Amino acid sequence: MAAQDKNLNALFLPYFITSHMTPLVDTAVLFASRPGVAVTILTTPSNALMFQPSVDRAASAGHRITFHTIKFPAAEVGLPEGIENYGSVASRGMIPKVSLAISLLREPMAQAIRDLRPHCIVSDVMDPWTVDIAEELNIPRLILSTTNCFSECVYYQLKIHKPYEKVRSDSESFVVPGLPDEIEMTSAQLEDYLKTPEDSGNSGELMNQIEDAETRSYGIVFTSYSEIEPEYVQHSKNVMGRKSWHVGLPSLILGKESETNEERHRCLYWLDNQQPGSVLYVSFGSLIRFPDTQFFEIALALEESGRPFVWVVRKIGKTGEKEDEDWLPEGFRERVLESNKGLMMREWAPQISILAHPAIGGFLTHCGWNSAMEGMAAGVPLITCPLLAEQFYNEKLITRVLKIGVEVGSGVWNRSPQILSPVVGKDKIAKAVSRLMDGSEEAEEIRRQAKEVSVMMKKSVEEGGSSSSDLNSLIEELKAYVLY
Ligand code: UDP
Repeated sequence: MAAQDKNLNALFLPYFITSHMTPLVDTAVLFASRPGVAVTILTTPSNALMFQPSVDRAASAGHRITFHTIKFPAAEVGLPEGIENYGSVASRGMIPKVSLAISLLREPMAQAIRDLRPHCIVSDVMDPWTVDIAEELNIPRLILSTTNCFSECVYYQLKIHKPYEKVRSDSESFVVPGLPDEIEMTSAQLEDYLKTPEDSGNSGELMNQIEDAETRSYGIVFTSYSEIEPEYVQHSKNVMGRKSWHVGLPSLILGKESETNEERHRCLYWLDNQQPGSVLYVSFGSLIRFPDTQFFEIALALEESGRPFVWVVRKIGKTGEKEDEDWLPEGFRERVLESNKGLMMREWAPQISILAHPAIGGFLTHCGWNSAMEGMAAGVPLITCPLLAEQFYNEKLITRVLKIGVEVGSGVWNRSPQILSPVVGKDKIAKAVSRLMDGSEEAEEIRRQAKEVSVMMKKSVEEGGSSSSDLNSLIEELKAYVLY
């Protein structure tokens, strides 16, 4: 068979967090949509089930894509059957058990990769061990990053120059050296594994492994858009020596939510009855667990701001029992919810469809990069309340570089999704809401800019746009590298 007739067999390995799995599996579907590519997704049965509809759809369109599943060691770690990722835990006590099960899966997964003998591995940044197996098999490993180049550049510059060591307190701001824009941060907003890696236990060690694996990998695929951060794409290439591709957020490209939600959600009907651009959407992603005191302040701020809202409240208790609503301010249910001034959702929200609804005029977000991009793609300006991971960097990209949002002023980085930083008071939240939604000149300028970014993102994924071209050139490069 001539080399050009051979398939590129790509193996995709999703990590066990919903907001990481979804972009990785969707990127696998995009890969498979290109000619001469066959994709295998290596995961566990319940996780495969979540994505079965989109994989089936791709397969029935004639694309070569399939799952290879390995049993999740639920019984071995004392988890009920079917709990196979961090998003599906029913109580906090299950979280360390999921971590243990993931570590037990490493060897069987490595063996499965050996047996499958793919031409390349595309794996999450959280799976640095895959670089070892790629080297053993002499094949390229690509990192699938669910964040952006900007945050990588900021982290890199911070690590080299350590400006946080030159300030007198955690709250004194400094400018991150060597970046195309003037980015101010404080030490309190930075990861502990950056500032004191020796004291940050497992996360420090994992970061070292991730960074080492990054230098040994073939390159990074960002589910982001080069148009929104062109100077940082250049910076990462020229200064950091990184090789990267920006393929766009695949769920937006595939239009997945509208394909899968056959029944229109009740919140969308509620939104139909609101004025265009009037509603604030409030969601903190899939993982964040706030203390009740923080929910209380958010409720007060929403009531005080007097704007219609859709508020997604995700809560799990110590035991997983359904929680009551003791944490709501007294009378809030009657005054606000029952009088239809806002909608509170405890279930999984169809976020992409909500953000695309014309009634939405602002999005209070924790700056998880998927959420941020979903808001940006819909042209919705953002109110930023970062809490952990790289979210404080994302906030700076949103408010200082793209200028499509305002900051609430949450100032302290958290080590885990169980939020322990000081509660952000209602006044700060209400002030940011009114700054973004009061129709001032500043608010209008932000809104205009948000629309521009949305247009840029849409163009990027069209045929010939940069995301689409980046994906094609990555696949051609891989074919040339491994097949010819
Ligand atoms: N999400 C959703 N409905 C919900 C909560 C979250 O669809 O009720 C989706 C959201 O659209 C996004 C992802 O979950 O795609 C959250 O990812 P993000 O990176 O924003 O945050 P994380 O969950 O990792 O903190």
